[in-house]
Amino acid sequence: MKTSSDAYVATDGRAGKPRRGRSSGHVRAARRLAGLIWPQRSLITHRELPGPGPLEPELWSKLNFITGAQCRACGMPFEIAVEPDQLCGACLVRLPAYDRARAALIYGDVSRELVLGLKYQGRRDGLATLAGWMAAAGSELLADADLITPVPLHYFRLIRRGFNQSGWLAAALSRTSGVRLSVDALKRARSTPIQGNLSADARRRNVQGAFRVRGSRLKLVKGKRVLLVDDVLTTGATAEACARTLKRAGADCVDVITLARVAGPRSMTI
Ligand SMILES: [Zn+2]
Repeated sequence: MKTSSDAYVATDGRAGKPRRGRSSGHVRAARRLAGLIWPQRSLITHRELPGPGPLEPELWSKLNFITGAQCRACGMPFEIAVEPDQLCGACLVRLPAYDRARAALIYGDVSRELVLGLKYQGRRDGLATLAGWMAAAGSELLADADLITPVPLHYFRLIRRGFNQSGWLAAALSRTSGVRLSVDALKRARSTPIQGNLSADARRRNVQGAFRVRGSRLKLVKGKRVLLVDDVLTTGATAEACARTLKRAGADCVDVITLARVAGPRSMTI
C-alpha cells in the first residue's frame, strides 16, 4: 500500500532533497524549448499571451503585491508608513506560534484565481513564477531557513486530489532557493473539515492537534530553522498549529511563507 509520501512522489516525482543534476537540467532545457514552440498561456485564462509575462495586462494590474511596511511577526501589511520592526495590534496582544509570516500577494479576485488554478485544476506551468514571487517576498526568511516543508494534506484528501498544491509550491521554492526540501516532514494525524466558511475560533479548534512530525523526520527537524509553505494564509490557524507541532519536535524557528494572504489582521482571540 502506498504511504502518503509515496502518493506525493508518484504525482510529483520528488522527495527529500531538491533534485539536482542531469534530469533537472534536461527538464529546464525542454521547458525553454517548449516556450519557443508553444506561446506562453495566461496562468488564469489559459489564453495565449501576446507578450512576455504570466498574465494579461488587465489581470496583472489587479494583482496586489505586498511591498510596503508590514508587521514583523504576522506580515500584515500596514496602510500607513511605520517604523521598521513594528508589530500589528493582534501580535501585540498575542504573538503567533510561528516566528514570521510573509506572503507575495494580497488575497483578492485575481490571486484567488491563481490559487484555484493550482488547487483544483492542478496547473503547474506557473509554479516557477509563483515561487519567484514568494522568494522575493520572503527573501529574509529563505536566507535563514535550513529546511522547507509544506502544510500537508490528509492522506485521503491527497489520494482524492492526487497532489498537494502546497507541496508543489514548496518544491518550486526549494528549486529556486537551493534550500533543502522535505515534502513530508509533517503529516495530518486526522482529517479536518474544509475551513472555507469557518470563523477564526472554529478554524483554530478544527486544526488543534491535527498535525504530527513523522517519526522518520524528527532528526531532520530538530534544531533546524524551518520554513513552512502554504498557498494562502487566512487566520493563520493552520500555520500556527503546524508551527507548534514543529517546535514541539525541536525546530529552532518556524517561519511561514504563502503565495497570498488575507489583508486584514489575524484573529486576536486566544
Ligand atoms: Zn502581526
